[in-house]
Amino acid sequence: MTNEEISFPVINQELCKGCKRCIIGCPQHVILFSEHMNDAGYQYAYYSGDGCTGCKDCYFTCPEPLALEVHQYKKTINDKVGKMIKAKVTNKGGN
Ligand code: SF4
Ligand code: SF4
Repeated sequence: MTNEEISFPVINQELCKGCKRCIIGCPQHVILFSEHMNDAGYQYAYYSGDGCTGCKDCYFTCPEPLALEVHQYKKTINDKVGKMIKAKVTNKGGN
């Protein structure tokens, strides 16, 4: 079994006040600034969708409670099944 960790920020656009701290603080530059406004009249931050490493810098720099969370989970890959599929594909047409 191999564990692959997947991380991504979840930004509540209605609670974001558009201060850009998370955008400036993200070392991967994967948080962007929307051209649109939320219901409170603030432009808001959003995740580009790729490249988060799960460092949580954005979470610790955001001053708005509940505006930004970092979600992380582990995806378990079954190596044995993976090897069996690979072997089957490799053997195809070889007999
Ligand atoms: S957890 Fe780190 S890498 Fe991911 S969006 Fe936040 S600051 Fe960027
Ligand atoms: S730090 Fe928080 S309030 Fe500021 S732009 Fe990012 S999500 Fe919005």
